Amino acid sequence: MSDCLFCKIIDGSIPSTKIYEDDYVYAFMDIGPLTKGHTLLIPKEHVANVFEMSEETAANLFKVAPRIASAIKDTFKPVGMNLLNNNGAPAGQSVFHFHLHFIPRYDETDGYKPTWITKEDAYTPEILKGLAEEIKANLKK
Ligand code: 5GP
Ligand code: ZN
Repeated sequence: MSDCLFCKIIDGSIPSTKIYEDDYVYAFMDIGPLTKGHTLLIPKEHVANVFEMSEETAANLFKVAPRIASAIKDTFKPVGMNLLNNNGAPAGQSVFHFHLHFIPRYDETDGYKPTWITKEDAYTPEILKGLAEEIKANLKK
């Protein structure tokens, strides 16, 4: 897509620091890293988000994820790693070409501080069962 930042990174018209490339995916250093080694993995096909992604594109992308993660782990010896993907502006997406973040974790001061506030009291097992049935009814074959 001509006005997409990450498509321009793939075609080389915007420079990037490449880690890996094959026929289907491109991995490069995030320009604003949250932690040392923060990397992005993107499909070469322009898809804005996970909802637009075909199974084939997803398979080609996620197939590479363990290799990218392991390379970062072996290089910087983090104690953990978050794989993160934001879909839609309210979910924190700022570049609308699908990307998977690899965020190596070092300690509690490493620059990445996700908040995770659970609401177990509001979601009883019975409510969860109902929600699961609703989702299952919308699972496409
Ligand atoms: P999002 O907020 O959409 O999940 O993440 C977008 C990511 O793209 C951010 O972490 C941001 O630092 C990164 N980013 C934005 N522009 C560029 C760029 O021109 N080059 C690179 N390498 N990363 C970028
Ligand atoms: Zn794009």
